[in-house]
Amino acid sequence: MPHTWDPSSPSPEAALERLREGNRRFRKAHGSRARPWSRRLATEAQRPFAVILGCSDSRTPVEILFDEGFGDLFVIRIAGNIVAPSVVGSIEFAVAQFGTRLVVVMGHTRCGAVAATVKAIATGLGPESKNIRAITDRIAPHLQGLVRPKRSASLLREAVRANVRASVDQLRHGSQLIEELVLAGRVAVVGAEYQLETGAVRFLDSVPEATPAPEPSPTRVRMKRIYEPVAKEDGFRVLVDRLWPRGISKERAHVDAWARELAPSDALRKWYAHRPARWEEFQRRFARELEVQEESLQRLLAEARRGPVTLLFASRETELNNAAALKRHLEERARTGP
Ligand SMILES: [Zn+2]
Repeated sequence: MPHTWDPSSPSPEAALERLREGNRRFRKAHGSRARPWSRRLATEAQRPFAVILGCSDSRTPVEILFDEGFGDLFVIRIAGNIVAPSVVGSIEFAVAQFGTRLVVVMGHTRCGAVAATVKAIATGLGPESKNIRAITDRIAPHLQGLVRPKRSASLLREAVRANVRASVDQLRHGSQLIEELVLAGRVAVVGAEYQLETGAVRFLDSVPEATPAPEPSPTRVRMKRIYEPVAKEDGFRVLVDRLWPRGISKERAHVDAWARELAPSDALRKWYAHRPARWEEFQRRFARELEVQEESLQRLLAEARRGPVTLLFASRETELNNAAALKRHLEERARTGP
């Protein structure tokens, strides 16, 4: 399978803001900024900035209502935006293969699939086709507490939202791959509701809620790309890559130390290749390699007790990289003592 993982894919926050802006353009019907087909776009690797799970309802065309075009959104549409196993597989594929960091489950007002489920629960009569029941049966458990004998006008609306929330929850916890990426702060899964009546998409959660903030570091270890300007608060600057980074001189790099022995082996680096699905296992294997580097680790820990330490790396992958794994390892060591 060709791997098109994009380490510079926009953050969940940035992707969400882009969706909001696109929906605003759509509602104002200002000139569309969606990218049209071009020979270049058609053949280059895809880098969708968001994954959207929406409903098949013909009144909810995802690309149109976010004013996005060719190659921008990875869209799965299925009646009732349900989370079936093949849907989870499609989403795992997108986040692991392209590095897309925002996943949106988007329901909509007046959803026929949700209405059919509400009716089935209330009357006890499901749809006749077992294939259609396969859809309503997936929605029904999420609505059990909602459907009362007396139907109110707001029931369908509540049911749509409950269904979106349940789908978000299923995605966050029903896939080990997605769950790990959410815990690492790499991916956010949020719910949304498209209002047929106004054309507006309302997001039901904000991204920071879905993305846990990293714990404050007790050892004042930070990390930074070596190409970024040197700052006073960097403190002790230590390069933690095995190879000297391309395109930067020793003078410009301002490196206080080069701890190449604290970089992963070539074999491990090649095995990992910044594939998010391998991140947890990469950290385990890397920790085993570090077992024989006790002296270097102790030097760095001592430095971190004196003042800030900045781990420098070259990779365009700024989060799930060897410096991040080393930082976590050092913090873990600082917590548990020598
Ligand atoms: Zn629908």
